[in-house]
Amino acid sequence: MSILGGAAGAAIDGRMLIGRNWSASESQDVIEVVNPADLSLVGTVPNATPKDAEQAVAAAYAAQAGWAGRLAGERARLLRGWADLVRANRVELARLLTTEQGKPLAESLGEADVTADFIDWFAEEGRRAYGQVIPEFAAGKQLVVTREPVGVAVAITPWNFPLSMVARKIAPAIAAGCATVLKPSEDAPFTSLALAELAHEAGIPDGVVNVITCSRENAVETVKALLADTRVRKLSFTGSTVVGKILLALAAGTVKRVSMELGGNAPFVVFDDADLDKALAGFMAAKFRNAGQVCIAPNRLLVQDAVHDSFVDQLAERVKALNVGPGLEEGTQIGPLINRRGMEKALGLVRDAVRDGAELVTGGEVHARGGSFLQPTILTGVNSQMRIFREEAFGPVVPVVRFSGEDEAIALANDTDAGLAAYFYSRDVNRVWRVSKAIESGMIGVNDGVISTPVAPFGGVKESGLGREGGQSGIMEYLEEKYLCMGIDK
Ligand code: ADP
Repeated sequence: MSILGGAAGAAIDGRMLIGRNWSASESQDVIEVVNPADLSLVGTVPNATPKDAEQAVAAAYAAQAGWAGRLAGERARLLRGWADLVRANRVELARLLTTEQGKPLAESLGEADVTADFIDWFAEEGRRAYGQVIPEFAAGKQLVVTREPVGVAVAITPWNFPLSMVARKIAPAIAAGCATVLKPSEDAPFTSLALAELAHEAGIPDGVVNVITCSRENAVETVKALLADTRVRKLSFTGSTVVGKILLALAAGTVKRVSMELGGNAPFVVFDDADLDKALAGFMAAKFRNAGQVCIAPNRLLVQDAVHDSFVDQLAERVKALNVGPGLEEGTQIGPLINRRGMEKALGLVRDAVRDGAELVTGGEVHARGGSFLQPTILTGVNSQMRIFREEAFGPVVPVVRFSGEDEAIALANDTDAGLAAYFYSRDVNRVWRVSKAIESGMIGVNDGVISTPVAPFGGVKESGLGREGGQSGIMEYLEEKYLCMGIDK
C-alpha cells in the first residue's frame, strides 16, 4: 500500500473507509490537503456528503451488535494488535503527520508513541468495565448493575493531534463495544486514515471503524446528517467552543450522549516563591509544543511583581533561541502554523494587544521563512481588557500579565469562560493546596508543565466541555449503566 507498506493501500490515494470498502464520495468530489510548510500538495481525500454519512452509519450499525457481543478479552487482543502496528509504523506515521500538519518530526514520533499507549490503555480498561452488585434493600430484591456499550459512536476531531486525538476516542469506543464513524479534520486527514488502515490490518472487523472525510463547507450538512441519525447514540467532539455548541444543539435533537473537549484559555501562574528555573522549563514545554497549537497550552502567563522582570528576561532569551522551520528539517523546534487562517488570527491578536498598550519583547511578525511561519512572540503589559486575554492565540505567542497578590492571581486565572487546563508554580505547600482548590479548571499542573497522559482524566469545566478522555473515566463515556432489579423467591 501507498504509505505504510501494508495490505489495504488506500490511506493516501483519495479514498475513505466505509465498512469493508475504501471508497470515493458518492459525489466523486475531492478536497486537497496541503503541506503547511511549503504549501505543496500532499494528496486528495473524498469530499463526503450526507449520503456518504448515511452509508457510514449503516456500516457501523450493521457491525454494532456483533462487535458488542464479542468477549472483552477478544476486543482487547485486537486493540493490542492495533497498538503494536502503530509502534511498528511509527516512523511512517510520524513523517506523514509532519507532512500534512507541520509539527517537528520528534513531536510526531512522540505522538505516534502516545497513540499506541492510548490504545493499550483502553484495551485493558475494556476488560475492567465492571458493574456493581448492590446490597438488597428489601427482602428478595437482588440489584445488579451491568455496563453495556452505548451503541454507534461518532467522533469528530481537529487537526492539531490527528493521531492521538483519534486514538483517545476510537480506542475507548471500540474497547467498550461500540462501532464508530470518524470524521477527522479536513486539514490533516491522512494520518487518521492511516490509523484506521492499521486498525483494519490488525483484524478489527469491517464496519467497526469507518472514516469519512470532507471539506469544512460539506461538514455542516454531513455532520448534521450523522447527528440526526437515530442509529448514532454517541458523539465525541474535540474542537472549538463555537463549533462544539452547534454540535451540542444538533445532538440534542435525538438526545445523544456527548463528550465535548472544547477550547481552553490556560493561565500559567508564577508566584514569587516558585523555583524559577523549573517554572521556566515547565512553561517552555507547555507552551511551545506544536507551535502553541494545543488546547492546554498556556495562553496567559501571570507573573508576580517581584520576579516579573527577571522571569521575562530569561524567557525572552529562551524564546529568541527557538529554531523555526519545516518540521522535517533537523533541529526544528517550531513548525509552521496549520494555515493562513490560524496565522492571521494569532497575528491579529498580537496587533490588537499592541494597539491597546501591550509591549512587544520579541517577535510579533511573520517569520523570515514566510508562509504561515510566525515569529515566537512575547508581549508584556497585557491586561484583562485585551482580546488576547480572552481568546486563544493558538500559536507561539506569550501574553504576560503582571500581578501583586495571590487573590488577584486567582481572580485573573478564573476570569474566562474556559476551564480546561491551568498551571502554577509555588514552593509553599499551603498555597499549593489553596490555589489548586480555587482555580476553576478540569486539569491543573502544579509545578509541572506536561500533564497529558493516557492514564489520567483529560477534560474541562465551564465552556471547555463535558466528559473526560483517558484515565478510568475515558471508557465510561461509551458505556451505559443498566440496572436490574430481580425479585427472588427465597
Ligand atoms: P479547529 O479550529 O481546531 O479546526 P473546529 O472546531 O473548527 O476546530 O473544527 C473541529 C472539527 O469540527 C473539524 O473536524 C471540522 O471539520 C469540524 N467542523 C467545523 N465546523 C463544523 C460545522 N459547522 N459543523 C460540523 N463540523 C464542523
